[in-house]
Amino acid sequence: MSAVKTYKNLIGGEWVASRSGKTFENLNPANTDDVVGIFQASDQNDVNDAVAAAQKAFETWRLVPAPRRAEIIFRAGELLTQRKEQYAKDMTREMGKVLKETRGDVQEAIDTAYFMAGEGRRLFGATVPSELPNKFAMAIRVPLGVVGMIAPWNFPMAIPSWKLFPALVCGNTCVIKPAEDTPLSTFNLVQTLIDAGLPKGVINIVTGFGPEAGAPIVNHPDVRAISFTGSSEVGRIVGEAAAKSFKPCSLEMGGKNAIIVLDDANISLAIDGAVWGAFGTTGQRCTAASRMIVQKGAYNEFVDKFVAKAKSLKVGDGLDEKNEMGPQINEQQINTSIKYVDIGKKEGAKVLAGGNRLEGAHKKGWFFEPTIFGDGNAKMRIAQEEIFGPVATVIPVSSVEEAVEIANGTPYGLSSSLYTRDVNKAFRAIRDIYAGITYINAPTIGAEVHLPFGGVKATGNGHREGGLGAVDFYTQWKSVYIDYSDKLQRAQIDTGE
Ligand code: NAD
Repeated sequence: MSAVKTYKNLIGGEWVASRSGKTFENLNPANTDDVVGIFQASDQNDVNDAVAAAQKAFETWRLVPAPRRAEIIFRAGELLTQRKEQYAKDMTREMGKVLKETRGDVQEAIDTAYFMAGEGRRLFGATVPSELPNKFAMAIRVPLGVVGMIAPWNFPMAIPSWKLFPALVCGNTCVIKPAEDTPLSTFNLVQTLIDAGLPKGVINIVTGFGPEAGAPIVNHPDVRAISFTGSSEVGRIVGEAAAKSFKPCSLEMGGKNAIIVLDDANISLAIDGAVWGAFGTTGQRCTAASRMIVQKGAYNEFVDKFVAKAKSLKVGDGLDEKNEMGPQINEQQINTSIKYVDIGKKEGAKVLAGGNRLEGAHKKGWFFEPTIFGDGNAKMRIAQEEIFGPVATVIPVSSVEEAVEIANGTPYGLSSSLYTRDVNKAFRAIRDIYAGITYINAPTIGAEVHLPFGGVKATGNGHREGGLGAVDFYTQWKSVYIDYSDKLQRAQIDTGE
C-alpha cells in the first residue's frame, strides 16, 4: 500500500503544518483500515494566522471587479468538471456515500460555480428616485470582509461550495474549517480554486475539531460573519457566540423531514421517493425523509412495498458501483442508529425491516441495515428527533389535515413532501406546511442550487444558502446619496410645502 499522504493547512497561499504539530487521521468509513489522509489538528494559533492572512488579502480582493472575481469561479467550475470522477472517488472513500451520489455532490459544486459566476455581472443593487430635486439615491452591495465557514461531513464539497463561491464573488475573503470526518473533499475544492487563479490569502483552510479549530473562528474579532452548517446543538453554540460580537451568522441545521402519502397517490412513485428519501446518503442528509405519514387507505400497500424495497437494497462499499447504500460516517453515528432502534422498540413501534449493524463481510466498516418502523405515532422520539441514519418511521393518518399537522409537529422545519394526484390538496399543503422546502410528487431530497435552501424553527435562523439568498448573506447594503443641487437639502423637512 502507498504511504498515507499528509495534508497541511492553507494559510496566506502557503501549505503549513499546525503550529502545535498535532494531526489526525481521516478514515474510510467502509473500511477503517484504510487511512485516507493525515490532516492538521489546528487550534487558536492557526486560526489567528489564517484570519490575519485573509484580512490582508481582503484589502486587494475587494477591489478586484466582481466580473473578474467571477471568472475565477467560472474557471473553477470548468476544472471541477474535468476532475469530477477523481473527486467523486476521493469523496466516496472518505465519506462513504455511493459513487452516483458523490458525483452528484461534485456536480452541485459545478452548478454553484456556474450560477455564482453569472452573479459577478449582476450583484444588483437598487437605484431609486430621491424625494428631493437634484439628488441621486442608490443602494449598493459591499462585501463584509473576512468570513468564517464551518461545514458538516455529509456534503463535503457541495456545502463548502455553497459558502465559498458566493462569498468570493461578493468580494469577501474566507477561512474555512471542514468537518473532521471529510476534510479531503474541501481540500480538493480549495485546490481547484487555487488552480483557477485565486490570489494568495483569499481562501484559507484550517482543519481540525470543532471546539479547538471551529470555535476560534467564530470568536475571532476580525471575522465579520459566520456561515455554519451542522447540527442544531452545535448551531446554538455557534449562534450564541457570534451574537456576542454582533456578527451576522447563517445557521443551517438539522431536520426531521416527512413524506406524506395520500390515498389517491401513485403508490409506486411514492415508494421510489420514500426509498431514496430515507436511505439515500444512508439517511445522513439534513433533508432525509425519516417520517412517512401515510393515509390509512394506502397504508398496507405502502408499507409492504416500502419494506420489500428496503430489504432488497444492496449495502456495501460505495466505490463498488453495484452497491446502493454506503456506510454511516463513524462509530458515533452508527451508535446513534443502534440507540434509536432500541428507543423505537421500547416506544412500541414495530421493526418491519433491518434494525441491526451489519457484520461479516461488512465488519470493517460502519454499515447499518436499511431500517423501517411501522405503526409509529407522531409523539414517539423516533418520529421527533433527528437520527441521521437509515432509519424511517411510518405513521398512519386519517386525513391530509392530520398529516400536515404531524408534518409540522417537530422542532425542525427543513424539507417536506406530499404525494397526491389532487391539485387542491397539493396547493393547500404547500400553503400549510411550515418548512423551507416542499416537494409535490417527489421526495424530500432534490434541491437545485439556484433556489433558496434552508429551513425554519430549529433548522435555521432565517438565512438561506443557494439562490440569491446567498448573495444577500455575503454582502451588506450601503445606501448612497449624491446631492448635486449645490445647497443644503433636508430630507423630511424641505418638503416644498
Ligand atoms: P456537527 O454540528 O457535529 O458539526 C458541524 C461542524 O461544526 C463540524 O465542522 C464541527 O467540527 C464543527 N463544530 C463542532 N463543535 C463546534 C464548536 N463548539 N464551535 C464551532 N464549530 C464546531 O454536525 P455534523 O455531524 O458534521 O453534520 C450533521 C448535522 O448537520 C445534521 O444535524 C444535519 O442535519 C446538519 N446538516 C444541515 C444542513 C442544512 O443545510 N440545513 C446540511 C447538511 C447537514
